Parts: sequence; structure tokens; C-alpha cells
Amino acid sequence: MNSCSFAENLPTPPNLEVKYSIITVEAIMYCTTISQSKANTFSECKLKYLYRYVQRVPQDETNGDALHFGSYIHKILEEGVSCKTLEELQDHAKSLKENYKFGSSYTPKIDICLRNFLKFNAKLAEAGATEQVYEVTVKDDISVNGIIDRVIRGADGGYLVIDYKTSKRQKTKFDLYQDDQLQGYCFAVHKLYETPIEKITVAHYYPLTDTLVSVNYSNAQIAAYLRKKIDEVWKIRKSKKADMCPMQNQYCNWCGYKYVCPLFNPTHVVEQRLDEAKKNSPPKQSQGKYKKKPT
Ligand code: SF4
Repeated sequence: MNSCSFAENLPTPPNLEVKYSIITVEAIMYCTTISQSKANTFSECKLKYLYRYVQRVPQDETNGDALHFGSYIHKILEEGVSCKTLEELQDHAKSLKENYKFGSSYTPKIDICLRNFLKFNAKLAEAGATEQVYEVTVKDDISVNGIIDRVIRGADGGYLVIDYKTSKRQKTKFDLYQDDQLQGYCFAVHKLYETPIEKITVAHYYPLTDTLVSVNYSNAQIAAYLRKKIDEVWKIRKSKKADMCPMQNQYCNWCGYKYVCPLFNPTHVVEQRLDEAKKNSPPKQSQGKYKKKPT
């Protein structure tokens, strides 16, 4: 079995098995809504996309210290917007800690993030909306969805849109001008709050260094973003089973599907693990729900 024919043997998602006696990957590749992580996954590795968004194979999260740390800090920053003192924020952080597992090397970073965030938060005009979930139509039956960490309305009626970043590596303004995720947030806020694009500022905030990197987009940039999203959706829709191959890339070592990847495991091991994963898959209602991945 070669890497691509491997996709032929993948199990059909359980909910679709019930609804249709025969179903093709092509039929369930008919996507209507695209998030940034969906688009990134499709361009990085087709097999990963198939596992994650079509087959709903559970990911191995044992290699996820950075992910858990990021989720933990995001949760504190989301729920701690009304905390006025460091003690208050620290207490809240402690109450959340048991839900997140990461190595002790991350522990000193927690206090740094809390102290920086407290200073940063005190300068903002209002708490605004946290974890703003959106799904907005781009064209016909194509929409973009996502979750924005924070949306704050300014005194002049404009909006500041903040994406928290817990990674060490900071992006430059130049990077942000080409950032699809932030362009998506700008478009979503433009639609949800009926605000002109030029009155929306989008930013990355890095609590580890207390740095805010912000940009404003033009109407032309957002129009180009929308054309790109339509194009991405059609590329997914036109995919065939034979296209859904593993694509080795720089992120393979952090991939939650490396344990079922034919590039890194013998075929019989992959098949056995997929069978086990199918038996142990989470309840249907929790599968496929949009979940933001912290970075
Ligand atoms: S390990 Fe790499 S090639 Fe394999 S599924 Fe993950 S991203 Fe794709």
C-alpha cells in the first residue's frame, strides 16, 4: 500500500456511516465554512486534514506542552479581564491550573504573563468582548469562522481586535500585513459590528514580553483575503481521495497524527491504531466543534 492509496482504507466518520450506506471522501469534502486552522492544515498536509476534519480521528496530545500552556494562559486572560490586582489574577490562575498539563519549565512564565497582562489590561478602555465566536458569509454558501480573543470598542467608535500569542517568537508589522487570520478577524468585526475596515485595528499581544504589534488593513487587502478564502474552499471541494496524501513538513514532529501517519509507522501499526482510535473516539456531539488552537 502506498501513502496515497492508504486514504482508501480510512474509516468513514460514524455519524455519516449511519446516514449514508455508501459515502465518498469527495462528498464529505464539500466544505462550506473555513477557519484559518482548517486552511492551514489543508495546505500543510492533506492526510492531516482528512484525519482532522473528515474522519475526526482523535489527536495524540502527549506532545502538547506548548499547546496546554498556551490554552491555559488564554483561559486566564479571557476570564481575568475584570481582575484588578495580581493576587486576584493569580488566584484565578490557580483555580484553572488542574485542567492543563505542561512541564515545570513553563511555570516561571505564568507569573510573567500575569504581571504583564495586568499592566496592559489597565490601559484598555473597556473589557470588551472576549472569545468572540463568529461565522460570517463571504459569498453564496461559503463562510469563514473563528474565535477572536478580544474585541474592544474605542471612544472614537473604532475597534481594537486582539489575538493573544504565547509563543516567544514575535511577528513584525510586515508579517501581520500578510496574516490571513488577522485579516479574517478584521472582516468578521467589520460585518458583526457594522464598522468600516479603516476603523478597525488588529493586533497580536504577547504577554511574555508585554508587546503589542498592531496594523490596519485597507479595503483592497480584505477584498483579496476574501478571494483567497473562496479559492481555498474550492480547492478543498475539488479534492479527490487520491489527493489526500501525507505531506512531510516542518511541523511533523508536533503533529497529533504522527502516531497514525504512514510516513512514520508501518502500515499494519497505522491500521491497528486507527481501529483503536475509532473504538475510543469521543462522543459525536463533541467532535468537529470549532476549537481555537493557541499559538
Ligand atoms: S506527521 Fe506530517 S505527514 Fe504525517 S499526517 Fe502529520 S503533518 Fe502529515
